[in-house]
Amino acid sequence: MSFKSLGLSEPLLRAVSKKGYETPSPIQQKAIPSILNGKDILASAQTGTGKTAGFTLPLLHLLSENPKEKYRPIRALILTPTRELAAQVFANVKEYSEFLNIRSAVIFGGVNQKPQAATIRKGVDVLVATPGRLIDLESQGLLSLKRVEIFVLDEADRMLDMGFLRDIERVMKLMPNKRQNLLFSATFSKDIKKLAYSILNNPVQVEA
Ligand code: AMP
Repeated sequence: MSFKSLGLSEPLLRAVSKKGYETPSPIQQKAIPSILNGKDILASAQTGTGKTAGFTLPLLHLLSENPKEKYRPIRALILTPTRELAAQVFANVKEYSEFLNIRSAVIFGGVNQKPQAATIRKGVDVLVATPGRLIDLESQGLLSLKRVEIFVLDEADRMLDMGFLRDIERVMKLMPNKRQNLLFSATFSKDIKKLAYSILNNPVQVEA
């Protein structure tokens, strides 16, 4: 099994080989083809399984397949529970999109919002965010999620543990109903399953 056989485009294959990856990890092998097919995904994956590339690579592929507008709306939103994870996911998005014409940004709380808002105003295709700061900027009219096509909920179990359920529900209402949803979680409690059913449409289930 190779990254190429998963159907990823040349610029992404270049980025992957620059990272030194030779073979897709199990979660990547299972998730990438379904995501490229436009399916919703319910993925059971811990940190260290390669889950970040598992959703980032196909997401970038899908976005770069369609023509961009001059005004760049946010087309993909990746929601993470902590700023550390947000920063880490963003670093991955940057690396994997090196050979694509895709702009990305990260926003999280605890730091000045001005530079974040300024970056978003210039137009970004992919936004990585923690819930609080995202809702904050949206409610100030500094960003819009009305054009989101792909929504990723990363570490959904930690999100719930940290009390972000209400925030997630609020974010859901800010996005169009017609979109692709990818949910990643290490564990699957009753609450996660309930959340998953409320977000996902006919999801493909994958395990690391
Ligand atoms: P993650 O589970 O997304 O936090 O990734 C864990 C680590 O595995 C990161 O350091 C990635 O750079 C690395 N990684 C992801 N996919 C692969 C792969 N196919 N081959 C080797 N390393 C990988």
